[in-house]
Amino acid sequence: MGDQRSYDDRDGWIWLDGKLVPWREANAHVLTHALHYASSVFEGQRAYGGEVFKLSEHSERLRKSARLLDFEIPWTVEQIDEACREVLRANQLEDAYMRPLAWRGSEQMGVSAQNARIHLAIATWQWPAYFGEEAIQRGLRLDIASWRRPAPYTAPTESKAAGLYMICTLARHQAQATGFDDALMFDWRGQIAEATGANIFFVGDGALHTPTPDCFLDGITRRTVIELAGKRGIDVIERPIWPEELERFEQCFLTGSAAEVTPVASAGPWSFEVGALTLQLRKDYLDLANRRLSNS
Ligand code: PMP
Repeated sequence: MGDQRSYDDRDGWIWLDGKLVPWREANAHVLTHALHYASSVFEGQRAYGGEVFKLSEHSERLRKSARLLDFEIPWTVEQIDEACREVLRANQLEDAYMRPLAWRGSEQMGVSAQNARIHLAIATWQWPAYFGEEAIQRGLRLDIASWRRPAPYTAPTESKAAGLYMICTLARHQAQATGFDDALMFDWRGQIAEATGANIFFVGDGALHTPTPDCFLDGITRRTVIELAGKRGIDVIERPIWPEELERFEQCFLTGSAAEVTPVASAGPWSFEVGALTLQLRKDYLDLANRRLSNS
């Protein structure tokens, strides 16, 4: 069981704008631009045995996400990497989830915010299985979200921007209210996109099929799983996938830094088996993250 206390009331250290501060003192003012206008970007990453998996890729993506929202994080990738290691050590954690967050501060109010200071915080805590161990065994039950991922010309869809999660929270609340674990989101065209915080894969005729990430995050876990499948000689087909096709797929799973590789048992009216290939890729992923499998 994870810590049940509120996230602002815990022991430990949070890295904030260049130094470690006591957990309860890592605060922002109510007139913070990010709180009003969603000018914030974040990362979600995991440490395994004391090392953050794909750390620099996450730090790079954080900086890229910020640039897509028209701000520059005043720390380099190397500095962000080092800050992540520092906060992990300070909290004496080995296996943990980590959340870097960058946002515009309170120096300017209104839509434009060129003079607002850019802040960076990094917090880490123990967060076992994102969907819970039981859900991993039986496979997730996904609702079909009524919200659709926006077109890339209507939002900075390549950014891991807080604002893009507004519809994800709504979709997941709706799913959970009716007994589902999460929701599958279509994109604006009606093609399969992803879940509310993870990418999606299908298994059909021994190959992996996954939607082309042209309006949602091309996840770091997604890319890792594509590589791992390649090493096993499994064909990976990135292409537009339409809902009607789901009937023909045998297996389905989600990928994400928090979700890792999690089997899906159903999505709306379509059912899948928790199959051997899904479980193999889940094992390969965890072996790689835990350095039980070489990266070469
Ligand atoms: N899509 C969304 C909406 C997400 O929140 C995440 C988690 N960051 C992903 C996909 C997967 O990305 P990654 O594998 O890089 O964690």
